[in-house]
Amino acid sequence: MRRLIFLFLCPLLVTGCLDQQKENTAPAVLPSPPPIVYTGNAPIRWPYSTIEGARLTFVAANTFSGAEIADFETLAGQWDDSHPDYDFFNYPATEVANKDTGNLDDYYDGEMGIYKSTTWFNEISSNALGITQFFAIRRNAGTSSEFLELVHVDIIMNYRDYEFDPADPEYSNFDLSSVMLHELGHFLGVGHSSDSNAVMAPTISMGEIRDTLTDDDHGNIQNLYNTGEAQALIGSRSAIRTIESEPEIVRGIIEYRKDGEEFSYILPFIRDPR
Ligand SMILES: [Zn+2]
Repeated sequence: MRRLIFLFLCPLLVTGCLDQQKENTAPAVLPSPPPIVYTGNAPIRWPYSTIEGARLTFVAANTFSGAEIADFETLAGQWDDSHPDYDFFNYPATEVANKDTGNLDDYYDGEMGIYKSTTWFNEISSNALGITQFFAIRRNAGTSSEFLELVHVDIIMNYRDYEFDPADPEYSNFDLSSVMLHELGHFLGVGHSSDSNAVMAPTISMGEIRDTLTDDDHGNIQNLYNTGEAQALIGSRSAIRTIESEPEIVRGIIEYRKDGEEFSYILPFIRDPR
């Protein structure tokens, strides 16, 4: 009651009131919301409505051989088989013309694909065997429940600096299946694992074969997509809408490198979602 009287008197005693407010620990107005800062640790995933509905369709550059594209489908199937509740991908992968430009923006289009780059990119290290580039909406931005909701993903392999041909062991040569299984994990939003035997370990050596998902990989995809969380999200949907009046689209690039350095980063993407 004393506080109410105090507030009522404030407009009448402006100068004295300001002095007193400095000493008052209770703020006179609601604090500003915290600044939006991307933590870098937020989970990355597709909406449950996508994987429970139409699933994910990807295309593959026709500069890959038919056998390689068939292998990509088999590898994607490993991720499907790794989860008891969800399948993620649609088959078959349609073959399309390769999109070999040095401009990463060009990949943000109507098709999500697996491409070869023979020119690579100024922004990306030559130590990267391949990259997964994703575009995502920040949900619950700036809160502890922040996550990145994927809207578009492409896998681009570095054919400028590497060869992915087991028949040619002389060259700087990496196992295409092992690298692609890893990249398909990123396609689904799975991050790197600290288990060096996992497919999602952050690095791979020349000639090394890691083309089968491990228990660690299975655990990581099952943690990322789980039915309990799907239900909780449905329940909190209205609250999320309140927080986000204008969803922010970000671009992320995750490199898969031969040199043991883990490298991924998030860039603001100044373009309207499709
Ligand atoms: Zn990776």
